[in-house]
Amino acid sequence: MSRYWSEVTKSLTPYVPGEQPKLPNLVKLNTNENPYGPSPKAIEAIRRETGDNLRLYPDPEGSQLKSAVAAYFGEIATQQVFVGNGSDEVLAHAFLALLKHDRPILFPDITYSFYPVYCGLYGIEYRTVPLTEQFTIRPDDYLQPNGGIIFPNPNAPTGCALPFAEIERIVAGSPDSVVVVDEAYVDFGAPSAVALVNRYPNLLVVHTLSKSRSLAGLRVGFAVGDAKLIEALERVKNSFNSYPLDRLALAGAVAALEDREWFERTRQAVIRSRGELTRKLRELGFEVLPSGANFIFTRHPGQDAGELAKSLRKRSIIVRHFRQPRIGQFLRITVGTDEQCEILVAALREILNA
Ligand SMILES: *Cc1c(COP(=O)(O)O)cnc(C)c1O
Repeated sequence: MSRYWSEVTKSLTPYVPGEQPKLPNLVKLNTNENPYGPSPKAIEAIRRETGDNLRLYPDPEGSQLKSAVAAYFGEIATQQVFVGNGSDEVLAHAFLALLKHDRPILFPDITYSFYPVYCGLYGIEYRTVPLTEQFTIRPDDYLQPNGGIIFPNPNAPTGCALPFAEIERIVAGSPDSVVVVDEAYVDFGAPSAVALVNRYPNLLVVHTLSKSRSLAGLRVGFAVGDAKLIEALERVKNSFNSYPLDRLALAGAVAALEDREWFERTRQAVIRSRGELTRKLRELGFEVLPSGANFIFTRHPGQDAGELAKSLRKRSIIVRHFRQPRIGQFLRITVGTDEQCEILVAALREILNA
């Protein structure tokens, strides 16, 4: 705290990202990064872009990337696509552009912890809606007056996915406000709401290249929705930073979206490993929530989650533990390579037997 700080700055409660320790030989399963590298074609495209051209500003519209997103989905126009510096930035703009109204917005009590942070930053009131006892979203709970709705599908950190008809029920239930579906993990096993955007002008779907396309280090995210919603995001973006995506990010993101084969191969590998990991943890007595994401959410009836996380850390295995109501006994574990999963399972077996 300093007397030079603005009142807003004093009032903020910033988001705390999962740690990025610089230790060697770490089995890093705490921030849902993809264990496989990005598409070699993306890396090649970034290399090609690295040269004299960097003296020039990038395309402020990111037109090529918008076209690549539109082509990836099909039946989407480029005017229905917004691109940003990671989906966190896209989400931030959505909060200011589309979710700041008189009524409080709604999101689950257990969800991505950046949502309340944006509310704090922009002065947006919110009300949390409790997940069911099974940690799932119940659409009927969202059929109430609201200034907007946001939820991830699959949800984070639970990994639980909402079926298509239930997403539609939430979107159709609030025609007078914007519903944002944060699909950061959708490619690992949930139905995408992008198929609904041409029918619902109040639906915004947000994606990231950080998880299923292994580009967390490049910082690229995008949103798909009605052209009027996208225009709102552009207005905020152009009041903040005209060039949020640099030349390398634009080039790499286009190539990554075009390389469907690499995308398919790596996401299927993660899905397969998730199944194996789930089975092995259940054998050890863990309860594992059904996951549609590249992580699992798990607890052991006889073990304290905080202690488990500590014991794993002593073995250079980092997982995420949230000291929060309802989920304090859970661990969120990123699905790594099969080798990493094997190291994790062996360590847990040892800890349980000690
Ligand atoms: C990882 C994540 C994001 C942020 O992704 P970036 O594109 O890396 O900013 C957004 N929402 C959820 C739910 C996430 O887990």
